[in-house]
Amino acid sequence: MKPQELAQEVAKRRTFAIISHPDAGKTTITEQLLLFGGVIREAGTVKGRKSGHFAKSDWMEIEKKRGISVTSSVMQFNYQGKRINILDTPGHEDFSEDTYRTLMAVDAAVMVIDSAKGIEAQTKKLFKVVKQRGIPIFTFMNKLDRDGREPLDLIAELEDLLGIEGYAMNWPIGMGKGLKGLYDRVNNRIELYRREGADRFLPLNDKGELAASEPLTQDSIYTQTMEDIELLNDAGNQFSLKKIMAGNQTPVFFGSALTNFGVETFLNSFVKYAPEPGPKKTEQGNEVMPTNPEFSAFVFKIQANMNPAHRDRIAFVRIVSGEFDRGMDVVLHRTGKTMRLNNSTEFMADSRETVSTAVAGDIVGLYDTGNFQIGDTIYQGKTPIQFEKLPQFTPEIFVRVTPKNVMKQKSFHKGMQQLVQEGAVQLYKTYHTNDYILGAVGQLQFEVFQFRMLHEYHSEVVMTPIGSRIARWIDPEQMDEKMSSSRNLLVQDVHGDPLFLFENQYAERWFADKYPDVKLTAKL
Ligand code: GDP
Repeated sequence: MKPQELAQEVAKRRTFAIISHPDAGKTTITEQLLLFGGVIREAGTVKGRKSGHFAKSDWMEIEKKRGISVTSSVMQFNYQGKRINILDTPGHEDFSEDTYRTLMAVDAAVMVIDSAKGIEAQTKKLFKVVKQRGIPIFTFMNKLDRDGREPLDLIAELEDLLGIEGYAMNWPIGMGKGLKGLYDRVNNRIELYRREGADRFLPLNDKGELAASEPLTQDSIYTQTMEDIELLNDAGNQFSLKKIMAGNQTPVFFGSALTNFGVETFLNSFVKYAPEPGPKKTEQGNEVMPTNPEFSAFVFKIQANMNPAHRDRIAFVRIVSGEFDRGMDVVLHRTGKTMRLNNSTEFMADSRETVSTAVAGDIVGLYDTGNFQIGDTIYQGKTPIQFEKLPQFTPEIFVRVTPKNVMKQKSFHKGMQQLVQEGAVQLYKTYHTNDYILGAVGQLQFEVFQFRMLHEYHSEVVMTPIGSRIARWIDPEQMDEKMSSSRNLLVQDVHGDPLFLFENQYAERWFADKYPDVKLTAKL
């Protein structure tokens, strides 16, 4: 690809993930977006996958059994001359560190909120990770077709609970059964509910008002909306693209994913404002530009294969610069070795296809026989590149692990080592007794781990739940083994760094009171 062509291709990319709490409507809105992108023709396709109807024979057995997707995938489509990549972030019980790590590979996030419930726990956790990256966050207040909370309340909550300014791009005219439409502040029009085609838009005059001849102006809900809009104009936040780009303001869109209301308006704005791929910092202290003709990428996720007959895995890489070619030679920075990238996959909504062209901003899946680790950088060219480390996330639940058959230590250790490398669970060891403890963000990771130990390494493991714990790292200099008790178990992580697993907040507070000089830190 010529430099100019590469620059054009890169400028088309819009790569994002949806963050939400289970049931807020992520799957429903994803499906609507795919419909607009022409990738699927029928609503229910993505949902079908979720409920198990689309289970494919080569999916991991556990995936089929549970009827859920264990690990996230990528959906790609073209829209208004842009190439959109949606990275799926698993929720429900399959919420895991992969969910967090996926957010390291996107340039923007869409936050879907149930307007009846407001900001919920999982949204808050995911928001924290996105906010830390300083990327734009677009908000969709969903389920407007149902009675929800006051829109002003919902906007205020963004600031109160998440510390981000909200700017209402549009405003509901009524709600639930009384939903009439959306007052669109950006396009200066009203979008009527339950109308098809261009017919659904009513233009507003210079003052932002409907022509008096419109029947809607006679409705009391219209008067109410106009009062809200006046309030927003006078006392609300000012639209600031600069703040949006830095993740300090979020444009807020109201709508109903289920009835496909406000989704297209949202998508059009998103495509207009969402950023194209940007540069990325390296550990060498440089920035790699996406238009740099030499290929570079990092691994953000490793997924066990789906087909248990094959031991291979898929490494998901985010391309940072240049163009990906099948069969290209790259250097793996961690080992310094050159390797050939032969097989790759591209993930469409429903089928896996072999990738054709992929450039900076795109995600490719590489078949991996154990060469890659999460956080690895691969690159072309003579200058070594290692992108900045991915953050570590604090696990919340823990189990003690032992092999059932003590005679089979070898396969046990091999399995432990390799599966931990994939990064879905964290491994800890107790001091002296050297017990293995696994920590994860979600419960399902343990089940997958146990299943794979048995099927891939023929090692039956016994897991004793320890339950939820608060993991806090301690400066090795300050550490004294006498500080450990059953309420604050002392363990070491894979790097040998010591940390406490506190039984609960009280145990942590008790510890802080007893050792006021000891500094405890959490990961992200
Ligand atoms: P996810 O868990 O975030 O992926 O949520 P889903 O997309 O599966 O939606 C959860 C439930 O909410 C499903 O029953 C959807 O049909 C429903 N739902 C999603 N969007 C809307 C909406 O705009 N209005 C209403 N009334 N229900 C919705």
